Amino acid sequence: MLKPTTHNPYSMNKDCRSVWENCLKTIRSALPEHTFNTWFAPIIPLSLYNNTLTIQVPSPFYYEYIEENYLEILRKAIDKELGPEGKLEYSVVVDKGNAHNLPKTMTVPNTKIDLDIKPAESKVNADLQKRKMQILKEYESFFREIQFNENYTFDNFVEGDCNRLARAAGLAVAKKPGVTAFNPLMLYGGVGLGKTHLVQAIANHIRFNSPEKIVVYVSSEKFVNQFFEEIKNDRVQKLKNFYLQIDVLIIDDVQFFAGKEKMQEMFFHIFNHLHQHGKQIIMTSDRPPKELQGLEDRLLSRFKWGLTADLQQPDFETRVAIILKKLQNEGIEISYDVVEYLANNIDSNIRELEGVIVSLLARSNLERREIDLQLARETIKHLIQRVDERRPETTGEIDIEHIQKVVCHYFDVKEDEIKGKSRTQHIVKARQIAMYLCKEYTELSLKAIGYHFGGRDHSTVIHAIQTISDLMEVDSSIRQDVNALMKLIAKNE
Ligand code: ADP
Ligand code: MG
Repeated sequence: MLKPTTHNPYSMNKDCRSVWENCLKTIRSALPEHTFNTWFAPIIPLSLYNNTLTIQVPSPFYYEYIEENYLEILRKAIDKELGPEGKLEYSVVVDKGNAHNLPKTMTVPNTKIDLDIKPAESKVNADLQKRKMQILKEYESFFREIQFNENYTFDNFVEGDCNRLARAAGLAVAKKPGVTAFNPLMLYGGVGLGKTHLVQAIANHIRFNSPEKIVVYVSSEKFVNQFFEEIKNDRVQKLKNFYLQIDVLIIDDVQFFAGKEKMQEMFFHIFNHLHQHGKQIIMTSDRPPKELQGLEDRLLSRFKWGLTADLQQPDFETRVAIILKKLQNEGIEISYDVVEYLANNIDSNIRELEGVIVSLLARSNLERREIDLQLARETIKHLIQRVDERRPETTGEIDIEHIQKVVCHYFDVKEDEIKGKSRTQHIVKARQIAMYLCKEYTELSLKAIGYHFGGRDHSTVIHAIQTISDLMEVDSSIRQDVNALMKLIAKNE
């Protein structure tokens, strides 16, 4: 279908150049200057052969974008220069090359399959739907494990300079899985920058718009574990067959494949099969493909077939937009000062930004305070302090045992007393304050905290946190205790 070729861009013949120049005149007259400069100026005419003009575009994204948006004007220009029999082909640069290697390109014809004209569409869909039901039935146990987060949508994904290409490519794939040049689509970027959100948004879009398609989302870690599990159960062939029948395969965090040769082989086989059958493959990684050490070359070269796009740290404007979006989702309005303050002070990643917003809302809720600059300052100060304290090379990590120890010493109770069943008032008080502080200082879930307090359940922990927050409002001695304990804990001795 798409044949990789190498073109030498400098061996173009004169004819093709003048034909393309004339085409450009037509195109230029129909488009705004900046559009023309962005999308058409970088194109290089390569050859004119058998009435087919081949032009080189800088990336698969260009090709997609031009086809999507400027098909008509291109057709008009080609008609004018070469007549209705004239054809256009793109040579799409997929690898820029270097001083020693020519750029790698693939050649694709102009005008892709038009998905919108589907004969007897309802009949086709009914057949596909039936096929899906059969596969669902046969592989029910595998399907049960696939998890989609419906909150991850394109609507909820704030666009900015840091993610524009990745988002546009993701949307193109979501609209036409398996048909665009972005196959596979490889997204990479540091932690918390939106990789999982974006690929899940693609999954949700396809699931919603093409319910007959079989979409699978799996982390590479889970993929690996699943295969090991089925090897044990002697059902590995069944698992493999399952993967061979799906329409869209999304593998999150492929860096876990590094060094796992057996898995790579399995994946390689599935990948090839799906790709050959026009099925969509989407992958994410926390680093660019070339840094995926220990990932076999043949696997790596496959990643280059499609499009690789990165997600970068969000800039200030994007951070503001994200904060506003998250608050809007919660139905909360806060003053712009506060938004700006948050955006200025948290610039690491979006997950961190979300974490601060959640803490801020929780604080405002628990302490029944309005969200203002003061509360934002306190929240951030607290979190930044926590981050610093978590760094082992500074004050050492604050863990639950440390908190328990400090609290027990302070209230003069024994450690097994706060973990035990005693309802004695001062022990209950120490226990509840310790739980409150664990929530403040650690990332542990309520369930995990309960576990460390003699296996209590999470509702007991919620009750403790609520009680202490309420008491802190009305009881200055509790407030003093908590403040004193925070200082002691922060010392981390
Ligand atoms: P990654 O997989 O890259 O580590 P995630 O996709 O898990 O990151 O994103 C972390 C959090 O940040 C998620 O809750 C996600 O919804 C949110 N997030 C990331 N990017 C955006 C964005 N552009 N707009 C809105 N929320 C985002
Ligand atoms: Mg992720």
